Amino acid sequence: MTKMGKSLNEKLLFNFNNTATAFAYKTNEELKHSSFLFKMMNKAWFVRFSSAIGLKALQLNLPFVEATVESTLYKQFCSGTTLLNSQDVIDKLYEYKVQSVLDYGAEAKTKETDFNHSMNEAIRAIEFASDTSSISTICVKLTALAPIKLLEKIQSVNPLSIEETKNYKNVLKRIDSICYSANLKNVRVFIDAEESWIQDTIDFIANRMMKRYNKEKVIVFNTFQLYRKNRLDFLMESFDKAQKEGYILGAKLVRGAYMEKERKYAEQFNTPSPIQETKQATDNDYNTALQFCVDNYTKLAAVAATHNKESCLLLTQLMDKKNIAKNHPNLSFCQLYGMGDNISFNLAAASYTVSKYMVYGPVKEVMPFLIRRAEENSAIAGELGREYQLIRKELKRRGLR
Ligand SMILES: Cc1cc2nc3c(=O)[nH]c(=O)nc-3n(C[C@H](O)[C@H](O)[C@H](O)COP(=O)(O)OP(=O)(O)OC[C@H]3O[C@@H](n4cnc5c(N)ncnc54)[C@H](O)[C@@H]3O)c2cc1C
Repeated sequence: MTKMGKSLNEKLLFNFNNTATAFAYKTNEELKHSSFLFKMMNKAWFVRFSSAIGLKALQLNLPFVEATVESTLYKQFCSGTTLLNSQDVIDKLYEYKVQSVLDYGAEAKTKETDFNHSMNEAIRAIEFASDTSSISTICVKLTALAPIKLLEKIQSVNPLSIEETKNYKNVLKRIDSICYSANLKNVRVFIDAEESWIQDTIDFIANRMMKRYNKEKVIVFNTFQLYRKNRLDFLMESFDKAQKEGYILGAKLVRGAYMEKERKYAEQFNTPSPIQETKQATDNDYNTALQFCVDNYTKLAAVAATHNKESCLLLTQLMDKKNIAKNHPNLSFCQLYGMGDNISFNLAAASYTVSKYMVYGPVKEVMPFLIRRAEENSAIAGELGREYQLIRKELKRRGLR
Protein backbone atom coordinates (compact mmCIF):
# COMPACT_ATOMS: atom_id res chain seq x y z
CA MET A 1 0.00 0.00 0.00
CA THR A 2 1.24 3.51 -0.85
CA LYS A 3 2.04 6.04 1.88
CA MET A 4 -0.97 8.10 0.83
CA GLY A 5 -3.22 5.00 0.82
CA LYS A 6 -2.02 4.10 4.31
CA SER A 7 -2.65 7.50 5.85
CA LEU A 8 -6.10 7.62 4.28
CA ASN A 9 -6.84 4.16 5.62
CA GLU A 10 -5.83 5.36 9.07
CA LYS A 11 -8.07 8.40 8.73
CA LEU A 12 -10.96 6.17 7.63
CA LEU A 13 -10.27 3.84 10.57
CA PHE A 14 -10.01 0.59 8.71
CA ASN A 15 -7.41 -1.61 7.14
CA PHE A 16 -8.28 -4.34 4.63
CA ASN A 17 -5.30 -6.37 5.83
CA ASN A 18 -6.68 -6.63 9.36
CA THR A 19 -7.33 -10.37 9.38
CA ALA A 20 -8.26 -10.46 13.07
CA THR A 21 -11.37 -8.38 12.30
CA ALA A 22 -11.95 -10.09 8.94
CA PHE A 23 -12.14 -13.60 10.40
CA ALA A 24 -13.29 -12.97 13.99
CA TYR A 25 -16.54 -14.77 13.15
CA LYS A 26 -14.74 -17.99 12.24
CA THR A 27 -13.58 -20.61 14.74
CA ASN A 28 -10.11 -22.13 14.34
CA GLU A 29 -11.64 -25.25 12.81
CA GLU A 30 -13.70 -23.23 10.31
CA LEU A 31 -10.64 -21.22 9.34
CA LYS A 32 -8.59 -24.37 8.72
CA HIS A 33 -11.43 -25.73 6.59
CA SER A 34 -11.50 -22.51 4.50
CA SER A 35 -7.75 -22.65 4.12
CA PHE A 36 -7.91 -26.18 2.73
CA LEU A 37 -10.70 -25.28 0.30
CA PHE A 38 -9.06 -22.16 -1.09
CA LYS A 39 -5.81 -24.06 -1.52
CA MET A 40 -7.61 -26.67 -3.62
CA MET A 41 -9.53 -24.04 -5.62
CA ASN A 42 -6.27 -22.43 -6.65
CA LYS A 43 -5.56 -25.57 -8.68
CA ALA A 44 -7.41 -24.96 -11.97
CA TRP A 45 -7.09 -28.62 -13.07
CA PHE A 46 -8.67 -29.78 -9.82
CA VAL A 47 -11.60 -27.36 -10.17
CA ARG A 48 -12.23 -28.42 -13.79
CA PHE A 49 -12.04 -32.12 -12.92
CA SER A 50 -14.19 -32.00 -9.77
CA SER A 51 -16.82 -29.68 -11.34
CA ALA A 52 -17.40 -32.07 -14.22
CA ILE A 53 -17.39 -35.22 -12.07
CA GLY A 54 -19.40 -33.61 -9.25
CA LEU A 55 -22.17 -32.39 -11.52
CA LYS A 56 -22.52 -35.73 -13.30
CA ALA A 57 -22.46 -37.66 -10.02
CA LEU A 58 -25.13 -35.39 -8.53
CA GLN A 59 -27.35 -35.85 -11.60
CA LEU A 60 -26.95 -39.63 -11.22
CA ASN A 61 -27.80 -39.40 -7.50
CA LEU A 62 -24.59 -41.21 -6.60
CA PRO A 63 -24.25 -41.78 -2.85
CA PHE A 64 -22.02 -39.49 -0.73
CA VAL A 65 -21.71 -36.84 -3.46
CA GLU A 66 -24.29 -34.52 -1.98
CA ALA A 67 -22.82 -34.92 1.51
CA THR A 68 -19.30 -34.29 0.19
CA VAL A 69 -20.32 -31.09 -1.63
CA GLU A 70 -22.30 -29.97 1.42
CA SER A 71 -19.38 -30.33 3.79
CA THR A 72 -16.89 -28.61 1.45
CA LEU A 73 -17.74 -25.92 -1.17
CA TYR A 74 -21.32 -25.56 0.04
CA LYS A 75 -20.23 -24.91 3.64
CA GLN A 76 -17.85 -22.17 2.45
CA PHE A 77 -20.21 -20.32 0.08
CA CYS A 78 -23.78 -21.13 1.22
CA SER A 79 -25.68 -20.37 4.40
CA GLY A 80 -27.97 -23.42 4.51
CA THR A 81 -30.40 -25.59 2.60
CA THR A 82 -33.42 -23.62 3.89
CA LEU A 83 -34.11 -20.16 5.26
CA LEU A 84 -34.51 -21.53 8.75
CA ASN A 85 -31.20 -23.31 8.82
CA SER A 86 -29.49 -20.22 7.38
CA GLN A 87 -30.51 -18.28 10.48
CA ASP A 88 -27.40 -19.13 12.53
CA VAL A 89 -25.05 -17.81 9.86
CA ILE A 90 -27.19 -14.69 9.38
CA ASP A 91 -27.20 -14.00 13.13
CA LYS A 92 -23.48 -14.60 13.43
CA LEU A 93 -22.68 -12.08 10.69
CA TYR A 94 -25.04 -9.53 12.17
CA GLU A 95 -23.14 -9.68 15.47
CA TYR A 96 -20.42 -7.98 13.40
CA LYS A 97 -22.90 -5.53 11.80
CA VAL A 98 -22.88 -7.30 8.45
CA GLN A 99 -26.37 -7.66 6.95
CA SER A 100 -27.58 -10.43 4.65
CA VAL A 101 -29.04 -10.48 1.15
CA LEU A 102 -31.13 -13.64 0.75
CA ASP A 103 -30.40 -15.43 -2.50
CA TYR A 104 -32.32 -18.62 -3.28
CA GLY A 105 -29.78 -20.40 -5.47
CA ALA A 106 -32.05 -21.43 -8.35
CA GLU A 107 -31.19 -20.33 -11.89
CA ALA A 108 -31.61 -21.41 -15.52
CA LYS A 109 -34.92 -23.19 -14.95
CA THR A 110 -37.17 -24.48 -17.74
CA LYS A 111 -40.62 -25.43 -16.37
CA GLU A 112 -43.52 -23.17 -15.33
CA THR A 113 -43.78 -25.07 -12.01
CA ASP A 114 -40.11 -24.30 -11.29
CA PHE A 115 -40.64 -20.62 -12.08
CA ASN A 116 -43.61 -20.47 -9.71
CA HIS A 117 -41.55 -22.27 -7.08
CA SER A 118 -38.76 -19.64 -7.40
CA MET A 119 -41.33 -16.85 -7.06
CA ASN A 120 -42.80 -18.43 -3.94
CA GLU A 121 -39.31 -18.86 -2.47
CA ALA A 122 -38.56 -15.17 -3.11
CA ILE A 123 -41.82 -14.10 -1.44
CA ARG A 124 -41.09 -16.40 1.51
CA ALA A 125 -37.63 -14.81 1.77
CA ILE A 126 -39.23 -11.35 1.86
CA GLU A 127 -41.53 -12.44 4.71
CA PHE A 128 -38.51 -13.89 6.53
CA ALA A 129 -36.51 -10.68 5.98
CA SER A 130 -39.29 -8.35 7.08
CA ASP A 131 -39.09 -9.48 10.72
CA THR A 132 -35.43 -8.74 11.23
CA SER A 133 -32.95 -5.91 10.70
CA SER A 134 -30.21 -8.47 9.99
CA ILE A 135 -31.61 -8.97 6.45
CA SER A 136 -31.94 -5.90 4.25
CA THR A 137 -32.54 -7.33 0.83
CA ILE A 138 -33.38 -10.36 -1.30
CA CYS A 139 -32.11 -10.94 -4.81
CA VAL A 140 -33.61 -12.61 -7.86
CA LYS A 141 -32.40 -13.91 -11.19
CA LEU A 142 -34.84 -13.55 -14.09
CA THR A 143 -33.67 -16.96 -15.36
CA ALA A 144 -35.21 -18.49 -12.23
CA LEU A 145 -38.57 -16.92 -13.16
CA ALA A 146 -38.63 -17.23 -16.96
CA PRO A 147 -37.34 -19.51 -19.75
CA ILE A 148 -34.04 -18.22 -21.16
CA LYS A 149 -35.32 -18.85 -24.69
CA LEU A 150 -38.27 -16.55 -24.06
CA LEU A 151 -36.07 -13.78 -22.59
CA GLU A 152 -33.83 -14.16 -25.64
CA LYS A 153 -36.73 -14.02 -28.09
CA ILE A 154 -38.15 -10.87 -26.48
CA GLN A 155 -34.76 -9.26 -27.02
CA SER A 156 -34.70 -10.28 -30.70
CA VAL A 157 -36.91 -8.66 -33.30
CA ASN A 158 -39.00 -11.81 -33.81
CA PRO A 159 -42.66 -11.54 -32.74
CA LEU A 160 -43.89 -13.79 -29.89
CA SER A 161 -46.42 -16.58 -30.50
CA ILE A 162 -49.72 -16.59 -28.57
CA GLU A 163 -48.27 -19.16 -26.14
CA GLU A 164 -45.09 -17.09 -25.65
CA THR A 165 -47.11 -13.93 -25.06
CA LYS A 166 -49.06 -15.76 -22.36
CA ASN A 167 -45.83 -17.01 -20.77
CA TYR A 168 -44.34 -13.54 -20.88
CA LYS A 169 -47.36 -12.14 -19.05
CA ASN A 170 -46.78 -14.81 -16.39
CA VAL A 171 -43.15 -13.71 -16.06
CA LEU A 172 -44.25 -10.10 -15.50
CA LYS A 173 -46.80 -11.25 -12.91
CA ARG A 174 -44.13 -13.25 -11.06
CA ILE A 175 -41.61 -10.43 -10.82
CA ASP A 176 -44.36 -7.97 -9.97
CA SER A 177 -45.64 -10.20 -7.14
CA ILE A 178 -42.11 -10.29 -5.70
CA CYS A 179 -41.59 -6.51 -5.93
CA TYR A 180 -45.11 -5.83 -4.64
CA SER A 181 -44.47 -7.96 -1.51
CA ALA A 182 -41.06 -6.37 -1.06
CA ASN A 183 -42.59 -2.89 -1.20
CA LEU A 184 -45.25 -3.87 1.32
CA LYS A 185 -42.65 -5.27 3.73
CA ASN A 186 -40.00 -2.63 3.06
CA VAL A 187 -37.40 -5.15 1.87
CA ARG A 188 -35.11 -4.31 -1.05
CA VAL A 189 -34.88 -6.46 -4.21
CA PHE A 190 -31.69 -6.77 -6.29
CA ILE A 191 -32.40 -7.95 -9.83
CA ASP A 192 -29.19 -9.71 -10.89
CA ALA A 193 -27.58 -9.11 -14.29
CA GLU A 194 -27.00 -12.09 -16.57
CA GLU A 195 -25.83 -12.75 -20.15
CA SER A 196 -25.90 -9.88 -22.70
CA TRP A 197 -28.26 -11.74 -25.04
CA ILE A 198 -31.02 -11.59 -22.40
CA GLN A 199 -29.92 -8.48 -20.51
CA ASP A 200 -31.99 -5.97 -22.55
CA THR A 201 -35.11 -7.88 -21.51
CA ILE A 202 -33.95 -7.93 -17.87
CA ASP A 203 -33.21 -4.17 -18.03
CA PHE A 204 -36.65 -3.49 -19.50
CA ILE A 205 -38.36 -5.46 -16.71
CA ALA A 206 -36.14 -3.94 -14.00
CA ASN A 207 -36.92 -0.39 -15.22
CA ARG A 208 -40.62 -1.19 -15.19
CA MET A 209 -40.40 -2.45 -11.59
CA MET A 210 -38.31 0.54 -10.47
CA LYS A 211 -40.82 2.90 -12.04
CA ARG A 212 -43.63 1.16 -10.17
CA TYR A 213 -42.00 0.72 -6.75
CA ASN A 214 -39.21 3.31 -6.40
CA LYS A 215 -41.37 6.42 -6.14
CA GLU A 216 -40.57 7.51 -2.57
CA LYS A 217 -37.84 5.07 -1.55
CA VAL A 218 -35.65 2.56 -3.35
CA ILE A 219 -37.06 -0.95 -3.29
CA VAL A 220 -35.85 -2.36 -6.65
CA PHE A 221 -32.25 -2.28 -7.92
CA ASN A 222 -31.07 -3.13 -11.42
CA THR A 223 -27.52 -4.47 -11.87
CA PHE A 224 -24.90 -2.77 -14.09
CA GLN A 225 -22.04 -4.91 -15.43
CA LEU A 226 -19.14 -2.57 -16.04
CA TYR A 227 -17.16 -5.24 -17.91
CA ARG A 228 -19.45 -4.40 -20.83
CA LYS A 229 -18.34 -1.61 -23.12
CA ASN A 230 -21.53 0.44 -23.02
CA ARG A 231 -22.73 0.01 -19.46
CA LEU A 232 -21.32 3.23 -18.02
CA ASP A 233 -23.42 5.14 -20.57
CA PHE A 234 -26.36 2.90 -19.77
CA LEU A 235 -26.03 3.71 -16.05
CA MET A 236 -26.16 7.43 -16.84
CA GLU A 237 -29.10 6.96 -19.23
CA SER A 238 -30.93 4.92 -16.59
CA PHE A 239 -30.40 7.73 -14.09
CA ASP A 240 -31.72 10.36 -16.55
CA LYS A 241 -34.71 8.18 -17.39
CA ALA A 242 -35.54 7.73 -13.69
CA GLN A 243 -35.24 11.47 -13.09
CA LYS A 244 -37.48 12.31 -16.07
CA GLU A 245 -40.08 9.67 -15.20
CA GLY A 246 -40.21 10.49 -11.48
CA TYR A 247 -38.66 7.48 -9.76
CA ILE A 248 -35.39 6.78 -7.94
CA LEU A 249 -32.73 4.65 -9.61
CA GLY A 250 -31.42 1.67 -7.65
CA ALA A 251 -28.02 0.65 -9.05
CA LYS A 252 -26.04 -2.40 -8.04
CA LEU A 253 -22.59 -2.08 -9.62
CA VAL A 254 -20.67 -5.22 -10.59
CA ARG A 255 -17.84 -5.95 -12.99
CA GLY A 256 -19.57 -9.01 -14.48
CA ALA A 257 -19.46 -12.77 -14.09
CA TYR A 258 -19.91 -14.22 -17.59
CA MET A 259 -16.80 -13.00 -19.42
CA GLU A 260 -15.70 -16.32 -20.94
CA LYS A 261 -19.25 -17.23 -21.96
CA GLU A 262 -19.75 -13.80 -23.56
CA ARG A 263 -16.56 -14.08 -25.57
CA LYS A 264 -17.41 -17.60 -26.76
CA TYR A 265 -20.92 -16.48 -27.77
CA ALA A 266 -19.56 -13.53 -29.74
CA GLU A 267 -17.11 -15.82 -31.50
CA GLN A 268 -19.77 -18.43 -32.26
CA PHE A 269 -22.23 -15.92 -33.74
CA ASN A 270 -19.54 -13.75 -35.29
CA THR A 271 -20.69 -10.62 -33.45
CA PRO A 272 -18.47 -8.08 -31.71
CA SER A 273 -17.71 -9.04 -28.10
CA PRO A 274 -19.55 -6.75 -25.68
CA ILE A 275 -16.73 -7.15 -23.15
CA GLN A 276 -14.10 -4.46 -22.57
CA GLU A 277 -10.74 -5.05 -24.25
CA THR A 278 -8.77 -5.04 -20.99
CA LYS A 279 -9.23 -5.47 -17.25
CA GLN A 280 -7.99 -1.90 -16.84
CA ALA A 281 -10.84 -0.62 -19.04
CA THR A 282 -13.34 -2.54 -16.84
CA ASP A 283 -11.75 -1.10 -13.69
CA ASN A 284 -11.82 2.43 -15.12
CA ASP A 285 -15.53 2.20 -15.95
CA TYR A 286 -16.33 0.61 -12.60
CA ASN A 287 -14.58 3.38 -10.70
CA THR A 288 -16.12 6.11 -12.88
CA ALA A 289 -19.53 4.56 -12.15
CA LEU A 290 -18.77 4.83 -8.42
CA GLN A 291 -17.84 8.48 -8.88
CA PHE A 292 -21.07 9.10 -10.82
CA CYS A 293 -23.15 7.50 -8.05
CA VAL A 294 -21.43 9.50 -5.32
CA ASP A 295 -21.93 12.72 -7.33
CA ASN A 296 -25.67 11.93 -7.48
CA TYR A 297 -26.10 10.11 -4.17
CA THR A 298 -29.07 12.17 -3.02
CA LYS A 299 -31.04 11.15 -6.13
CA LEU A 300 -30.16 7.46 -6.43
CA ALA A 301 -29.12 4.48 -4.30
CA ALA A 302 -26.00 2.51 -5.23
CA VAL A 303 -24.38 -0.68 -4.00
CA ALA A 304 -20.75 -1.50 -4.74
CA ALA A 305 -21.02 -5.27 -5.22
CA THR A 306 -17.34 -6.13 -5.51
CA HIS A 307 -14.38 -7.87 -3.89
CA ASN A 308 -12.00 -5.36 -5.42
CA LYS A 309 -10.11 -3.61 -2.63
CA GLU A 310 -9.17 -0.55 -4.70
CA SER A 311 -12.78 0.11 -5.74
CA CYS A 312 -14.02 -0.25 -2.15
CA LEU A 313 -11.30 2.06 -0.87
CA LEU A 314 -12.14 4.55 -3.63
CA LEU A 315 -15.80 4.61 -2.62
CA THR A 316 -14.88 5.33 1.02
CA GLN A 317 -12.56 8.13 -0.15
CA LEU A 318 -15.21 9.67 -2.39
CA MET A 319 -17.71 9.57 0.48
CA ASP A 320 -15.17 11.09 2.86
CA LYS A 321 -14.40 13.93 0.42
CA LYS A 322 -18.06 14.90 0.30
CA ASN A 323 -18.55 14.38 4.06
CA ILE A 324 -21.20 11.74 3.41
CA ALA A 325 -22.11 9.74 6.54
CA LYS A 326 -20.48 6.30 6.43
CA ASN A 327 -23.82 4.61 7.03
CA HIS A 328 -25.72 6.72 4.50
CA PRO A 329 -28.53 4.46 3.21
CA ASN A 330 -27.88 5.39 -0.45
CA LEU A 331 -24.29 4.16 -0.61
CA SER A 332 -23.33 0.69 0.55
CA PHE A 333 -21.07 -2.29 -0.04
CA CYS A 334 -21.86 -5.93 -0.79
CA GLN A 335 -19.76 -9.09 -1.03
CA LEU A 336 -20.54 -12.79 -1.36
CA TYR A 337 -20.70 -14.97 1.75
CA GLY A 338 -17.42 -16.88 1.94
CA MET A 339 -15.39 -14.28 0.03
CA GLY A 340 -14.00 -10.80 0.62
CA ASP A 341 -14.28 -11.04 4.40
CA ASN A 342 -11.35 -8.66 4.80
CA ILE A 343 -13.43 -6.04 2.99
CA SER A 344 -16.87 -6.75 4.53
CA PHE A 345 -15.90 -7.05 8.18
CA ASN A 346 -13.36 -4.23 8.22
CA LEU A 347 -15.80 -1.82 6.52
CA ALA A 348 -18.65 -2.86 8.83
CA ALA A 349 -16.41 -2.38 11.88
CA ALA A 350 -15.70 1.15 10.59
CA SER A 351 -19.50 1.82 10.44
CA TYR A 352 -20.10 1.51 6.68
CA THR A 353 -23.25 -0.31 5.52
CA VAL A 354 -22.21 -3.77 4.35
CA SER A 355 -24.16 -6.83 3.30
CA LYS A 356 -23.32 -10.31 2.05
CA TYR A 357 -25.15 -12.44 -0.52
CA MET A 358 -26.37 -15.51 1.39
CA VAL A 359 -26.93 -18.20 -1.17
CA TYR A 360 -29.19 -20.93 0.21
CA GLY A 361 -31.15 -23.87 -1.12
CA PRO A 362 -30.76 -27.61 -1.77
CA VAL A 363 -27.27 -28.67 -2.88
CA LYS A 364 -28.46 -29.63 -6.37
CA GLU A 365 -30.08 -26.22 -6.89
CA VAL A 366 -27.00 -24.22 -5.96
CA MET A 367 -24.51 -26.43 -7.85
CA PRO A 368 -24.24 -24.08 -10.90
CA PHE A 369 -23.50 -21.18 -8.50
CA LEU A 370 -20.84 -23.22 -6.68
CA ILE A 371 -19.19 -24.32 -9.91
CA ARG A 372 -19.19 -20.73 -11.19
CA ARG A 373 -17.59 -19.58 -7.92
CA ALA A 374 -14.85 -22.17 -8.13
CA GLU A 375 -14.25 -21.96 -11.91
CA GLU A 376 -14.39 -18.19 -12.29
CA ASN A 377 -12.11 -17.67 -9.39
CA SER A 378 -9.56 -20.27 -10.31
CA ALA A 379 -9.46 -18.62 -13.77
CA ILE A 380 -8.89 -15.15 -12.33
CA ALA A 381 -5.30 -15.12 -11.26
CA GLY A 382 -4.88 -13.84 -7.77
CA GLU A 383 -8.49 -13.69 -6.50
CA LEU A 384 -8.56 -16.87 -4.46
CA GLY A 385 -4.81 -16.56 -4.03
CA ARG A 386 -5.56 -13.38 -2.13
CA GLU A 387 -8.25 -15.09 -0.05
CA TYR A 388 -5.87 -17.96 0.68
CA GLN A 389 -3.06 -15.64 1.69
CA LEU A 390 -5.32 -13.71 4.08
CA ILE A 391 -6.57 -16.92 5.69
CA ARG A 392 -3.00 -18.18 6.09
CA LYS A 393 -2.02 -14.87 7.64
CA GLU A 394 -4.83 -15.21 10.17
CA LEU A 395 -3.96 -18.85 10.91
CA LYS A 396 -0.41 -17.71 11.64
CA ARG A 397 -1.63 -14.84 13.83
CA ARG A 398 -3.66 -17.36 15.85
CA GLY A 399 -0.58 -19.57 16.17
CA LEU A 400 -2.17 -22.34 14.12
CA ARG A 401 0.59 -22.81 11.55
C1 LIG B 1 -22.49 -9.14 -4.05
C2 LIG B 1 -22.18 -9.49 -5.46
C3 LIG B 1 -23.21 -9.59 -6.39
C4 LIG B 1 -22.93 -9.91 -7.72
N1 LIG B 1 -23.94 -9.95 -8.65
C5 LIG B 1 -23.65 -10.16 -9.96
C6 LIG B 1 -24.64 -10.08 -10.97
O1 LIG B 1 -25.82 -9.81 -10.69
N2 LIG B 1 -24.28 -10.29 -12.26
C7 LIG B 1 -22.98 -10.56 -12.62
O2 LIG B 1 -22.68 -10.71 -13.81
N3 LIG B 1 -22.01 -10.65 -11.67
C8 LIG B 1 -22.32 -10.46 -10.37
N4 LIG B 1 -21.32 -10.53 -9.43
C9 LIG B 1 -19.97 -11.02 -9.81
C10 LIG B 1 -19.10 -9.89 -10.30
O3 LIG B 1 -19.62 -9.44 -11.53
C11 LIG B 1 -17.62 -10.29 -10.52
O4 LIG B 1 -17.55 -11.40 -11.36
C12 LIG B 1 -16.85 -10.62 -9.28
O5 LIG B 1 -17.30 -9.90 -8.17
C13 LIG B 1 -15.37 -10.30 -9.50
O6 LIG B 1 -15.18 -8.92 -9.75
P1 LIG B 1 -14.72 -7.86 -8.65
O7 LIG B 1 -15.39 -6.57 -8.87
O8 LIG B 1 -14.95 -8.47 -7.32
O9 LIG B 1 -13.20 -7.56 -8.84
P2 LIG B 1 -11.91 -8.09 -9.58
O10 LIG B 1 -11.54 -9.42 -9.04
O11 LIG B 1 -10.93 -7.01 -9.52
O12 LIG B 1 -12.33 -8.24 -11.10
C14 LIG B 1 -12.55 -9.42 -11.78
C15 LIG B 1 -13.53 -9.09 -12.87
O13 LIG B 1 -12.97 -8.15 -13.79
C16 LIG B 1 -13.43 -8.41 -15.11
N5 LIG B 1 -12.28 -8.77 -15.93
C17 LIG B 1 -11.30 -9.66 -15.62
N6 LIG B 1 -10.41 -9.77 -16.64
C18 LIG B 1 -10.84 -8.93 -17.62
C19 LIG B 1 -10.35 -8.63 -18.92
N7 LIG B 1 -9.24 -9.20 -19.41
N8 LIG B 1 -11.05 -7.74 -19.66
C20 LIG B 1 -12.16 -7.14 -19.19
N9 LIG B 1 -12.67 -7.39 -17.95
C21 LIG B 1 -12.02 -8.29 -17.18
C22 LIG B 1 -14.44 -9.55 -14.98
O14 LIG B 1 -15.70 -9.01 -14.79
C23 LIG B 1 -13.98 -10.26 -13.72
O15 LIG B 1 -15.03 -10.99 -13.10
C24 LIG B 1 -21.59 -10.19 -8.11
C25 LIG B 1 -20.56 -10.06 -7.18
C26 LIG B 1 -20.83 -9.71 -5.87
C27 LIG B 1 -19.70 -9.56 -4.91
